[in-house]
Amino acid sequence: MDRRNTLQKEIIHRTLCEMCSHPTAAAVYEEVHRLHPTISRSTVYRVLGQMAEEGQILRLGLAGSDDRYDGNIHRHGHVRCRLCGAVADIPPVAMGKPEDTAGYLLEDCAVEYCGLCPDCLKRQEEKPLSPPEGVRKA
Ligand SMILES: [Zn+2]
Ligand SMILES: [Zn+2]
Repeated sequence: MDRRNTLQKEIIHRTLCEMCSHPTAAAVYEEVHRLHPTISRSTVYRVLGQMAEEGQILRLGLAGSDDRYDGNIHRHGHVRCRLCGAVADIPPVAMGKPEDTAGYLLEDCAVEYCGLCPDCLKRQEEKPLSPPEGVRKA
């Protein structure tokens, strides 16, 4: 890999690590592009894929969303907001080994919780999605 590639890789890695939102490749590109307009979209996507393969970053295949990337490679869990899709880190949960592995060799276990983020929770409390019985009159 030449110098230019190494430099671009460093920039992309640093940008991802500074974003705590578990961004999609598109969001990483936007941020990288803002600061370094010469780095192309395809470079950002390619480098993210490469770093994920090499274990320098995590690729999260979360339910119901595009692949997201995580600069935090320490063992941890995730919670995803079912309304806005925000993802936050939570401390790892110790999982026991199942009695039956269906013949599979288990290598890893990713725990993903689903719920409401603080912002969406607040918004819901302010205006409930469904009005209480009897409020609406025809
Ligand atoms: Zn939310
Ligand atoms: Zn994370």
